[in-house]
Amino acid sequence: MTDGRALAREFLEQQRQLGGNPVILPEGSTPGTPGASPGKTEGRSAPTDSGLPPPGISYDPPGGDLFSNDPVPQAISLDAIAQLVAGCTKCRLCESRRHTVPGEGAADARLVVVGEGPGRVEDDTGRPFVGPAGELLTKILAAIELPRERVFICNVVKCRPPENRLPQFDEIAACVPYLFRQIDIVKPSVILAMGGTAAQTLLNTKQSLGALRNFVHRFRGIPLIVTYHPAALLRNPNWKKPTWDDVRIARRLIA
Ligand code: URA
Ligand code: SF4
Repeated sequence: MTDGRALAREFLEQQRQLGGNPVILPEGSTPGTPGASPGKTEGRSAPTDSGLPPPGISYDPPGGDLFSNDPVPQAISLDAIAQLVAGCTKCRLCESRRHTVPGEGAADARLVVVGEGPGRVEDDTGRPFVGPAGELLTKILAAIELPRERVFICNVVKCRPPENRLPQFDEIAACVPYLFRQIDIVKPSVILAMGGTAAQTLLNTKQSLGALRNFVHRFRGIPLIVTYHPAALLRNPNWKKPTWDDVRIARRLIA
């Protein structure tokens, strides 16, 4: 049941909780080398010796309660989650949806990409990121040699907010257990949070996207990189270059 990667992750997480060195090591070094001393990572976006951004927020939402009968934290597969989502009426977004959009991709993906919520084309098809923003995301993934099929792509909310408005706080709160369980099941080595909604939800913070970029955050111990949402890139091409930088960092973190 436990593989080497899980053990290593557990160990590194323990080290982190005990106040150990950042777990992202300069290339070729071993744990405990100098250079990872806290002083060196102070200051916004100061690159570490490895050229990676310094550690940021770490968030560990509680896992499922073994004694509760909530089916979401106990779902055993991505399909099981998708089925629960298909019948979900936990928030008002169920009233206006055409299709639920649970997410899609490889169950053993090393990268999980998280967006905000389905748009029109996604609502029409039941598939994540297939409209204009999705086409851009597909290109971005191809550029780091990760074909879409090898990644797991999903959103914070699984039903389309009317007129593509921002999902509201109570809608996010109702829906987020599905996302947490999906991440639990896939156990990726990196999470890419695209846009403020994904970043703030996964890191449990209200900090702006600008303040959250350029750090290697952690979600349940998994490195998490924050970048712009592809829909925002379509409106503001100036953000393409910084997004490319972020995505390359995410790529380097994939074990
Ligand atoms: N925008 C998102 O955040 N998600 C999608 O699936 C499509 C557009
Ligand atoms: Fe359920 Fe999420 Fe859809 Fe709301 S958005 S109805 S919580 S699946």
